[in-house]
Amino acid sequence: MRVQVFTQLQHIDQQLSALAQERDALLAAFRERDALRELRNARRDLASNLKEERGHSSDLQWELDDVELRLRTLNEQERDGPTDPLVARELVLLRERAAQLEEHVLTQLERIGELEQQLRDIEQHVEQAASAWAEHEPQLQSQLDQLGHDLEALQTRRQILAHQLPENALELYDDLQRRHRGTALALIRNRQCSACRARLPAAVFDLLNTPDPLVRCPRCGRVLYIEAETAAD
Ligand SMILES: [Zn+2]
Repeated sequence: MRVQVFTQLQHIDQQLSALAQERDALLAAFRERDALRELRNARRDLASNLKEERGHSSDLQWELDDVELRLRTLNEQERDGPTDPLVARELVLLRERAAQLEEHVLTQLERIGELEQQLRDIEQHVEQAASAWAEHEPQLQSQLDQLGHDLEALQTRRQILAHQLPENALELYDDLQRRHRGTALALIRNRQCSACRARLPAAVFDLLNTPDPLVRCPRCGRVLYIEAETAAD
């Protein structure tokens, strides 16, 4: 009786661990969603970077316009009147500054062009990733829900079975499951423990003929059982 419950428990435990593995694999597929989120964050950062660079560019342009205006005014003064050394000096400085600013404006425009290209690329990626995820998500989600249901149903069945066992028997089973990585039971085949290959003494078979036997392999400690058909022979 106890051994039958053990066998059923072990069967359920194997299913449970298979389902848990399946669920882990499914959860790994949900990383696609995390990747999409990261991509969106990158797009947001890039867009704010671009905005900043455009602001910087228009500041430079403003400054350049000012310098050019001042240059025009001074040039006109120079044409109209006698040369003032102070004005001549300012003109030199202003021309230098104007040249610098033009250079900066150009570099800045290039930088903006690059960022715009990057933004277009990332937008394309986001769009692709979002539509792929939109396609995968419902199926993944429904698989995950189904798995959750199956796991719950199995857990319930396991609890019902476990309740049929006396407490010490359940403890023994759980302990053996842990120790032998999910194989608390060993089938007897050719008078041997099929798990550790120990040849079993006659005493084991005597014990197996008692009512509700719970006999353990003398070497590995697993609970021994005989397959129904073999037992009937
Ligand atoms: Zn054994």
